[in-house]
Formats: sequence, structure tokens, C-alpha cells
Amino acid sequence: MKNQNMIYAIKNGEIVHISEVESGLKCECRCPACGETLIARKGKKVIHHFAHKSTEECEYGYQTSLHLAAKEIIAENKQISVPALFLTLPGNGREVLIEDEKVINVSDVILEKKINDIVPDILLVTDIGQIIVEIYVTHEIDNEKKRKIKRIGIPTIEIDLSKLERNITKEALCKELLFENDNKSWIYNGKREISYKKFLDVSDWKPIIVRGYASHVDYCPIKRRVWKGKPYANFLDDCYGCDYFVGYKRNRNKEDEQDQILCSGKNRVGSLEDFDVPLENRLQAYNMKREEEKYELIGQGICPQCGYDLKIRQGKFGEFFGCSNYPHCQFTFSYDEK
Ligand code: SF4
Ligand SMILES: [Zn+2]
Ligand SMILES: [Zn+2]
Repeated sequence: MKNQNMIYAIKNGEIVHISEVESGLKCECRCPACGETLIARKGKKVIHHFAHKSTEECEYGYQTSLHLAAKEIIAENKQISVPALFLTLPGNGREVLIEDEKVINVSDVILEKKINDIVPDILLVTDIGQIIVEIYVTHEIDNEKKRKIKRIGIPTIEIDLSKLERNITKEALCKELLFENDNKSWIYNGKREISYKKFLDVSDWKPIIVRGYASHVDYCPIKRRVWKGKPYANFLDDCYGCDYFVGYKRNRNKEDEQDQILCSGKNRVGSLEDFDVPLENRLQAYNMKREEEKYELIGQGICPQCGYDLKIRQGKFGEFFGCSNYPHCQFTFSYDEK
């Protein structure tokens, strides 16, 4: 990536925006990456930018100038907004909120300081500890760097500036860096691992049993479906949309073992807030929700136990709804029950 659109440069040791300097060589600026003399191109036809005097553009000028500008903007403002942190559950990819977005206080901003075997773009010292900020200008963080960051264990945010307009003003860049969160993502945060561990502790592995064309999970703890009195769930139809589907393990080796799901249904834990509520209350809340769903399905003429249609039947005490899947499903309902 050439730096023909460099809009920040160094003047007398300070970072300056193209709008703050005189045109041409009078700008008295140098390239922050290679140190060469720059010319401020501020004509009418082109987007204002700095160019190397030798006309030989260096590789890291634009990137380095943005890092410098970012450092200065954050250091000046002493606060930066960080995005919400989510845990993605590997079962159905559901995102569980760990922490909402927030504004943190910054006491120090350190540029490109080596930590073990990586050189973070920016290291922030904040009221919630150290945070690495990686600025994505031309290259996203690669997996190798992600692994190294995880090893040193410092929470890391990537700020995507790759789609910035090339003639972005300093004010607009401030807004992007300090207040926007859509362009920021947590690359690493140890709280994700801690939260996943909490889910693991309340979950059970259950085999997925293939029966003909269907895949079932027997003894579904929330009794999603009932077959001859035995609760079960249909893996694709029920578990995928279920709040308690935590993980999935594919059996790659042994023929005789099934794939498995990790299910937190027994403890009714679907979010991190659930951990703060006693199990009894969680069960109660779930039962209420389930009752509502049950009447909604009955209203639609669907059996809440097996998903087959309901039929009006005639009994000793008048009309009632029965499942068309009888005798396998023995669900019945009459309006007197309600
Ligand atoms: S993930 Fe949900 S539907 Fe599937 S077995 Fe667990 S509780 Fe039942
Ligand atoms: Zn240069
Ligand atoms: Zn039924």
C-alpha cells in the first residue's frame, strides 16, 4: 500500500493534519515512517495530501501517520468508547452479552511498545487495566498475532479504519476513534473464556441419536417434545433455536459413538444474568414462558407436545382437543382446564 493519500505528517516533532500546514515544501513536514521531507499537495483538483519529496512513496507512511494521529487523539481526549463484549456459543452461534459498550478513562497511551514477541499499535493504560488497540488500515490482525495476544492475555480491540474516506478531517477521525463502536471489535478478552467456563459448569453432554431421517436428543430437560411419555428434542428443529444449546461435539473417529450436544437446559441457564437468579426462580420463569407458548400453539391448532395437528374429539364430558398423533402422543386439552 503506497501512502499517496497520507493526510497526517510530522512537523517539529508534532503530528499535524494536512489542513493545518502551508502548501508545498513550506509545510516543513516529514514522513512519520521513513523521515523523508514531504510536500503538502493542496491544489484545487486533488484531495489534499502529503507526498514524498523524492516522489518515491514509502510503504508504511499512511499507516504510521494514522497510528500517530490515533495516539494523539486518544491521549488528548483521555476517554474512549469500547464496544459491547459478547460470547459466541459454539452450539448455535448465539451471542450472549458479557458486558455492554462503555466509555473508559485513559491515563496513558503508548505507541508501538514491544510486549514479549508482539508490537501492539497502541497500548492504553485505563481504569479497567491495560488494553491493546490495533488499528486496521490495510491488514486485519492475522491469526498468528491473535495467538500471541492471547498468550500475553491483554484485552485487545481492533479499530477498522480501512474504509475511511481518504480526506477525512481530524474531527471526523476523532469521532471514529473515540465515540463510534461499530468499527471496533474485541479481538481478545479473557472474560469470554471465563464466561464460557461458567456455561460448561452448568451443562451436560447429550448424545444425538439418529432415527431414520430425524436426529433426536433424548430426555430433553425442558421436555420440548414428549413421545410415549418420554421427553426428547428434535436436534435440528428444537435445539438450534434453543436458548440452552451451548456446544456441539462432532464424533470424528469411532463409528459406534454419536455426535453430542452440550445442553444447559437442566439448569435453565441461557444468559449470564441467569447465574445471578436462584434455580427455583429460573424454573418458575421458564414454566410461565412455556405455558404462554403452549396456549399460543393450541390457539394455532398445533399440539404443544409433538407438533402434530390437534383435532376436535367428542368425549363423555363434551368436546375436547386431542393430538392427531394419538396413541403415540396423548396430549389433550379442553377449555375447562384453563
Ligand atoms: S438444547 Fe434445548 S431443546 Fe435441545 S435438548 Fe437441550 S434443552 Fe432440549
Ligand atoms: Zn515515508
Ligand atoms: Zn401431540
